Amino acid sequence: MQRIGISRTDYLFVFFSAAAPGIAAVLILYLVHAVPLPVLGGAIALIVLAAAALALAWARDAASLRRNAATIGSDSDEPRAFAQRTPIGAALSRQLEEGRRRTLSVQHALEERALDAERLIDALPEPMLVVSNRRRILHGNLAAEDLLGPALVGRSLAEVIRSPDVLEGTERALLIRQPLDVDFVLAGPVERQMRARTAPLLRGGAGGEAIVVVLQDLTAVRRAEQMRVDFVANVSHELRTPLASLIGFIETLKGPARDDVAARDRFLAIMEEQTQRMTRLVDDLLSLSRIEMEEHNPPAERIALADVIASTTGLLEPIARDRSVTLETEVAADLPPIIGEPDQVAQVLRNLVENAIKYGREGGSVRISAAIEGRTIALSVQDDGEGIARRHLHRLTERFYRVDAARSRQAGGTGLGLAIVKHIVNRHRGRLAIESKPGEGSKFTVYWPLSGRRAGSS
Ligand code: ADP
Repeated sequence: MQRIGISRTDYLFVFFSAAAPGIAAVLILYLVHAVPLPVLGGAIALIVLAAAALALAWARDAASLRRNAATIGSDSDEPRAFAQRTPIGAALSRQLEEGRRRTLSVQHALEERALDAERLIDALPEPMLVVSNRRRILHGNLAAEDLLGPALVGRSLAEVIRSPDVLEGTERALLIRQPLDVDFVLAGPVERQMRARTAPLLRGGAGGEAIVVVLQDLTAVRRAEQMRVDFVANVSHELRTPLASLIGFIETLKGPARDDVAARDRFLAIMEEQTQRMTRLVDDLLSLSRIEMEEHNPPAERIALADVIASTTGLLEPIARDRSVTLETEVAADLPPIIGEPDQVAQVLRNLVENAIKYGREGGSVRISAAIEGRTIALSVQDDGEGIARRHLHRLTERFYRVDAARSRQAGGTGLGLAIVKHIVNRHRGRLAIESKPGEGSKFTVYWPLSGRRAGSS
């Protein structure tokens, strides 16, 4: 801080102001012979001494006041000088100190508000950048750092988001003084479909104009839109084939085959099969949408897996027999119950065993086992069929994904069985694992979480 000493002007001003009237008064008294010369001399000496002392006290107080005033608005911790040699100096000093404290608290409040604003921006879940009108980043919140990398401040927007469309968007937003949305693709290890909302931040004063860029990740939304479009296309495709064949047979039965009893019986059998296929498809679609609707609502019933295994194998025995497949079961003794919805748990097992019979080896065996593994009960269905190539494994639970579409259709498959299994398992907070070796067979294992306290209680 600048040092402020005693000002000579202050000193002389107070000295002459204090001494002049006294000296003038005793001079007049001397001139009218009211006081003798020695008294005049003594009086003037006294007045000069008193004025000098007063001027010194004033000048020191003035210096202290100035020094104190200079600290207002600064956050300096420098010890402050208080004027206290004169009563008015002391009063002014107190007022000044009060003012200084008030300014300081306003300053702190403003700083706190600025910090709050920064914290608020940081807490926003959406990535947000504040960019200068020269496209330099002035601020980036935590979500922006997560998305675009650390140390954003000072870098150019073009370097951080390599999209000419976003740059152009910021320019146009400033020009039209309106927010503007720009869709772009953010390159990176995983490409993301993004939307940037660029809004001008019109600031007064030296700050000039700035732009707020809020980024929105639309990848999941776009993927969901695409899935919906694909799903409708798949369902239409699945229904179109049996419908076309039904229409063809009806035409034939109305026309050329009207009186051909043998052909009519054959065609009616095929029509029945196609109708059953459509019914299965509609049933599977309905159960899939029902399961999806309930997926966030965990089930609560206690189920003994051994019972489910016994009833499912009983139900599927005739189909297994048709393909000369042996169903083998191995259930650990004293298996604790799982928490689930009985129909859905049975549907999981039914779909897996049905697949194992359909795609397993004719004359082979299907092994169903249940045992405790860690904090789960592992329910597995293993066949000794031709297996599945590794590249298909991660896609098997997608709707309508089939390794061999013709074979699946011929076996009466809808392409939805494993998608249904996945959603049921998700609802039960379980996990599905698929292992397969081409030529050796496949193993589908569902890990049901052990029911913990809920199973032990009640
Ligand atoms: P689908 O109605 O076609 O059987 P799924 O969703 O049940 O539909 O199965 C999807 C695909 O996974 C099947 O079309 C088949 O190619 C393959 N798959 C399922 N289970 C097995 C298995 N045990 N062995 C070989 N391939 C299987």
